[in-house]
Amino acid sequence: MKHIKQIYINGQFATPHGQELFSLINPSTNQLIGEVTLGNEQDTQDAVAAAKKAFKTFSKTSKEQRIAYLQRLHQAVSARTGEIAATMIEEYGASQQFATMSVRYAAESFLQMANVLRDFEFQRDIGRSRLSLEPLGVAALITPWNANASFICNKLATAIAAGCTVVIKPSEMSALQTQLVAECLHEAGLPAGVFNIVNGRGDVVGAELTRHPDIAKISFTGSTLVGKGIARDAAASLKRVTLELGGKSPNILLDDADLATAIPMAVMAAYMNNGQACIAGTRLLVPEHKLEEVKTLVKKAVAGIKVGNPADAEVGLGPLVSVKQYERVQSYIRLGIEEGAELLTGGEGHPAGLEAGNFVKPTVFVNVKPGMRIEKEEIFGPVLSIISYRTEEEAVEIANDTDYGLQAYVSSADYDRASRIAAQIVAGRVLINCLDHDPAAPFGGFKQSGMGREYGVYGLEEYLEPKAFIGSKK
Ligand code: NAD
Repeated sequence: MKHIKQIYINGQFATPHGQELFSLINPSTNQLIGEVTLGNEQDTQDAVAAAKKAFKTFSKTSKEQRIAYLQRLHQAVSARTGEIAATMIEEYGASQQFATMSVRYAAESFLQMANVLRDFEFQRDIGRSRLSLEPLGVAALITPWNANASFICNKLATAIAAGCTVVIKPSEMSALQTQLVAECLHEAGLPAGVFNIVNGRGDVVGAELTRHPDIAKISFTGSTLVGKGIARDAAASLKRVTLELGGKSPNILLDDADLATAIPMAVMAAYMNNGQACIAGTRLLVPEHKLEEVKTLVKKAVAGIKVGNPADAEVGLGPLVSVKQYERVQSYIRLGIEEGAELLTGGEGHPAGLEAGNFVKPTVFVNVKPGMRIEKEEIFGPVLSIISYRTEEEAVEIANDTDYGLQAYVSSADYDRASRIAAQIVAGRVLINCLDHDPAAPFGGFKQSGMGREYGVYGLEEYLEPKAFIGSKK
């Protein structure tokens, strides 16, 4: 039983003014594994004041100094990736493969941002003017539980690269991971106040950050509902806002796709992180004449996934993060049946022998029709909908008939053909014949999947404000 009693303010661990205790539960067993003392409004204000003070000098550091800090952060997080991954598995049930990959991305994000910084020109000429790209100020970084450590590191790397200082508000459900990351960041020896971390509730610490006059920018990853509220509240002081929100990603199988590789990949895209991923490919669009073949292959691929406690390295599908999330996904499975979709595999209830944790049967629906709620709404669990189409035009139309636009997938034996389809899909990223992540490429959503971009140069520019100097020496 671990008790996280401290938050991190102005270069040191500190006891919060907040007194509320929040329970940390292992979702594989639903047993208590720890508790965290949550910070309150006062703690948030202290953190913002520390970040504001640090900004005065940190914003003036050279590019080379910030590259050196990013390298130190990379070393510090890299040294403890095994521990952080183990904690992710315990705290929210990520599979070993996902946890290991996610923490590797977390550590690498510092080096990747250092690389971006090396080639980035903060001073440029444009027209008859001189341009200076200036750090915005203090940024609030608000993260969800589903890859908390990775989001903290990526957002922090980008903010620091720009010369901003930050207050991090991690998910209160991820306090054990956050503590390890905080220890690593502390180890890297950044100047006091450059980063501050306040564990706390969204409607307390998150809301205080959103309305605080000294916060210049909010970088939020989480649900569309909360993101819209943040955008509304942040408008009062016109804070810059980056929102990385939900998704309902389409995966288009073209009729020439090699099904032997495309189907296992499609199942993995749908069930990554136990189905709790904003980029999960949860709508599989299949040519009508291939439907029977696809059904057989999908059933086979799903049967090959081991469901269970992710402490076991062979497990591909762990539990959902909480009982609440379990109940929510169950209600969507019931809804799919009520809406008239046909259950290909899975269904309601726990898999046999896994009643103690929040385990869901990997579920696939066929005969899903555009417009059904299971086809439109983000479920955030291992539920895949298969939708058949007759023509490529129809496939594109179904793919785009969504409020979301974060990521999409296309499979075809002909790359150029897949690219032509990809060009018609309204999404921030389209993956062709792969399940890849490119940290140099911008990441973010069209429509209600968010606004702004993360990663690479586009991510960096979200923390900068252009300032023009017009007029020359006489
Ligand atoms: P959530 O929106 O409930 O919470 C996210 C964070 O916001 C948490 O730290 C929470 O405490 C905080 N928060 C809650 N209310 C707040 C408020 N009023 N003001 C400020 N902060 C507040 O999301 P979640 O359940 O933690 O995560 C799952 C969601 O995140 C899914 O919808 C998923 O699609 C989305 N997500 C998006 C991306 C992306 O990059 N687009 C990545 C991962 C997850």
